Amino acid sequence: MNRDEMLTRVRNRKEPWDIVVIGGGATGAGVAVDAASRGYDVLLLEREDFGKGTSSRATKLVHGGVRYLEQGNVSLVMEALKERGILLRNAPHIVKDLKFIVPNYSWWEAPFYGIGMKIYDFLAGKYSFGSSKVLSLEETLALLPTIRQDGLRGGVMYHDGQFDDTRLLINLMTTAAEHGATLLNYAGVVELKKDEAGFVQGVVAIDSENGERFEIAARSVVNATGIFTDETRRLAEPGVQPMMVPSQGIHLIFDHSFLTGDTALMVPQTDDGRVLFAVPWHGRTLVGTTDTPIPSVSYEPLPFEEEIDFVLETAGRYLTHKPTREDILSVFVGIRPLVKAAGASDGKTSSLSRDYTIHIDHSGLLTIVGGKWTTYRHMAEDSVDHATTLGRLEEKPCVTATLHIHGYHQHPEEFGVLSVYGTDALAILELAKENPDLLRPLHPDLPYIAAEVVWSARNEMSRTLDDALARRTRALLLNARAAVEIAPAVASLLAKELGKDATWVDEQVKSFKAMAAQYIPQGTKYPASPASS
Ligand SMILES: Cc1cc2nc3c(=O)[nH]c(=O)nc-3n(C[C@H](O)[C@H](O)[C@H](O)COP(=O)(O)OP(=O)(O)OC[C@H]3O[C@@H](n4cnc5c(N)ncnc54)[C@H](O)[C@@H]3O)c2cc1C
Repeated sequence: MNRDEMLTRVRNRKEPWDIVVIGGGATGAGVAVDAASRGYDVLLLEREDFGKGTSSRATKLVHGGVRYLEQGNVSLVMEALKERGILLRNAPHIVKDLKFIVPNYSWWEAPFYGIGMKIYDFLAGKYSFGSSKVLSLEETLALLPTIRQDGLRGGVMYHDGQFDDTRLLINLMTTAAEHGATLLNYAGVVELKKDEAGFVQGVVAIDSENGERFEIAARSVVNATGIFTDETRRLAEPGVQPMMVPSQGIHLIFDHSFLTGDTALMVPQTDDGRVLFAVPWHGRTLVGTTDTPIPSVSYEPLPFEEEIDFVLETAGRYLTHKPTREDILSVFVGIRPLVKAAGASDGKTSSLSRDYTIHIDHSGLLTIVGGKWTTYRHMAEDSVDHATTLGRLEEKPCVTATLHIHGYHQHPEEFGVLSVYGTDALAILELAKENPDLLRPLHPDLPYIAAEVVWSARNEMSRTLDDALARRTRALLLNARAAVEIAPAVASLLAKELGKDATWVDEQVKSFKAMAAQYIPQGTKYPASPASS
């Protein structure tokens, strides 16, 4: 993927695009892959970087959602379990089968969760990742050596999936590009163009790198802007009723010692009514998440003090080594775009539907919002089916159920630390042939080499230090202090690739450090939750 080449295609385009997708998160990427692989002409426009919104901030699970089963939402669970299986089949280099254990401290938990997980297995049908099992105390301790032992009776083990959200996102973008889609980051839609009858016929986008303005004609426009859904809908109809309710969740990252082994811990019912996970991820322990309603949205939401205390306290009840604020390597926050129409009976966002909604405004703007990362493919198929009808496009069948995602490799572990790149790992290592220095680790506490940064600038449209350290590599999430320490070196690598000067490097480092400070909780005072005031 080369941004200059993408820009040239947009400039040279005379015909309307079949489908223009606004938003470059999981939802927009899915739509672009689906539509391009069916053979439509697709343009995807992202205002910031791909994944800068919610799609880089997930708990990294490809799952059916055990909690939705508890809520009785069987069809949502079944659909997600099927998509989990499809995703493992199409992207085995990024999606992994992971064992989860629900620890049992009361007599009723083993039969209760044991039966629940058997239903979960059953609903997965032929897409099952493996059978669940009630474990003895010894078996539980063997898999979760750092679980709190007093009162522990055993556990229930089940299987679910795990992934790296932005690695999958970039591979989806690349897959779309390989099928002819044009994709631009840093190109926000600022207007929707309508015909005399008031139907959306295109968009106006601005390249935020140089201010260039594009008038873009489209047969169909898909709004996949997540938490910015209503803002985009207002571009077509200023008075529309909002349909999205934002709710934020935080994750804390700790080192491996808090959860040794390769099994995750799942707490089905926390005090805020959510599930809490402690998951091994890229050699760290990821713990989350919360569910706090918030009044407004932003790209870099702050955690609330209460959320940090809540996650530390809840994790501390289950782990032998109680984590403290000093142990946090990074804190990152995501905002869920929940759909209001589903309604909440108790005023809590944790009871709002996690299902997705397709909504068509009077202007013909198609909005796809809600759902989960796990179900992005199914959401995309449904959206493209609707978009082709709206755009009067020739009908073409969806092919993504069996479409391999870029980087596909059945045994990625043979690529060692580069396994998450799948087949691209070989090309990254090739870069070191021209410059062996690129094999050097970027930091002793991070699993990245310099070649990955160069690769991301040349092939994955990495344009800023934030892109390279937060979403192409995951340095900011894995260890925010280490990410800040390598910022100058990484900015210099990027500058060389992108033809930028020393002033650009300085500006990048300065703005990245300012942003990264909020990922480091030691010495940072966060706001109080709106719920507490
Ligand atoms: C804390 C948390 C944990 C989660 N964990 C999981 C999990 O483990 N597994 C799972 O399956 N799901 C999970 N989810 C859900 C999942 O992350 C989301 O459903 C998904 O990422 C939403 O993707 P999206 O593309 O709709 O939104 P986004 O990723 O936010 O993408 C929308 C994009 O639109 C862009 N945009 C906005 N306005 C414009 C404009 N005018 N022009 C151009 N672009 C624009 C934004 O910049 C943004 O990049 C989690 C969510 C949260 C909040």
